[in-house]
Amino acid sequence: MTRKQLDAEPQPERSSSEAPIANDQREPAAGYSTRRGSRSLLRDLNVSLLIELVRRAGTVSRADLARQSRLSAPTVSNIVDKLIKRGIFNEVSLAPSSGGRPPVLLSIDPKAGYVIGIKLRANGLTTVVCDLDAQIVASREIETSLVGNPSAAILAIEQAVLRVLRDAVVPQSKVLGVGIGLPGIIDSDRGFCNFSHLLWWRDVDIAGPLRKRLGLPIWVDNDVNTLAVAEKWAGDAPDTRDFVTLSVGRGVGLGIVIDRSLYRGANGAAGEFGHVIIEPGGAKCECGRFGCLEAIVGEGALRRSVGEQLGRDITRDELISLVRDGDLAARAVVENAGRRLGQAVANMMTLLNPELLIICGEGTELGATFLDPIVAAVREQTFGDLGRTVDVKVQLWGDEAWAVGAATQVLRESFSLPNSDDKSHAIWHRINA
Ligand SMILES: [Zn+2]
Repeated sequence: MTRKQLDAEPQPERSSSEAPIANDQREPAAGYSTRRGSRSLLRDLNVSLLIELVRRAGTVSRADLARQSRLSAPTVSNIVDKLIKRGIFNEVSLAPSSGGRPPVLLSIDPKAGYVIGIKLRANGLTTVVCDLDAQIVASREIETSLVGNPSAAILAIEQAVLRVLRDAVVPQSKVLGVGIGLPGIIDSDRGFCNFSHLLWWRDVDIAGPLRKRLGLPIWVDNDVNTLAVAEKWAGDAPDTRDFVTLSVGRGVGLGIVIDRSLYRGANGAAGEFGHVIIEPGGAKCECGRFGCLEAIVGEGALRRSVGEQLGRDITRDELISLVRDGDLAARAVVENAGRRLGQAVANMMTLLNPELLIICGEGTELGATFLDPIVAAVREQTFGDLGRTVDVKVQLWGDEAWAVGAATQVLRESFSLPNSDDKSHAIWHRINA
């Protein structure tokens, strides 16, 4: 990090600071330029901080805002006035409890800005426009094959964004940005998909071309990570410090939140839980290896096993109906898959010791036949008492929720405080959600 900073430092400034006394007069110029930079950054961070504090509180007075932010009252007043003028803050009067002047509280206008979220699948995309409360204002489904065809995806995303904004009657000037979630190993700093075995993509620049075409900030992340952010934002984990979201369906993935921050790993590949090998030399996985968890308990494997017993191919909907209608063969396959997945999940729980496990994804539609053995294995096979005490929740979310997750990523990125010491800011959320 130090080396990076030295490399980035402009040469003239370095020479001025190392210059002899005779060049003393050049120092203030260099010093001023640096300080001015810091001040402007500080101002931005203060704005973010106040927006975040109001957002988390729901309603708050200026005095409380100054206390919580540790900023001076005039600084708070100055920023608040500007945000009111821009329509981001509303002033709300409350009835006084014991006479006197009614206190004026501040709140965020959820319609002051909008965010767009997109979930990419192999066979299409779901796009939503959400307000600042992460409520869906409009949504659109586009069915088109994206497998092996990233340029078709870029075009489809551009069209989906323009159409959904038209549907929502939201001008582009009010959009904070676009969040995109997709399966695979994602370099979220560069907005690249390094590798997606479901989409058959490798080294695809997603953010660059879309930034140019749409003129909006673009954030790209693994889809399971965006779901974890959504749980923090609008779901079951607003105040949870360490939790995991286990997504089950065609793929199996983990969103890992440690100390309120997403854990992405060195290459953005953390949480590729579906590709831990549980049966060396077993069924071939879509990633090209053999015996991966996903190849044994993923939707494709379940449909194949049940189809073999029936002597024909079955669709996803048929699999769900067979299980719901109590077909013994289908139920045995799904139950066994739940048990095997549960064993792997219990091992993961022993490793990470989260306080909450959220099971989500389209696989949850298989119901208790699939989910009960997973939870039983977690309870019985996790080390010590960890499995018995951990909170387990099932989130029955559809495709729109994944897109909302991607949209909440934009909210988080737009208002996050990169240099904050307070870790509770790591994922932006409301205390009173
Ligand atoms: Zn695999």
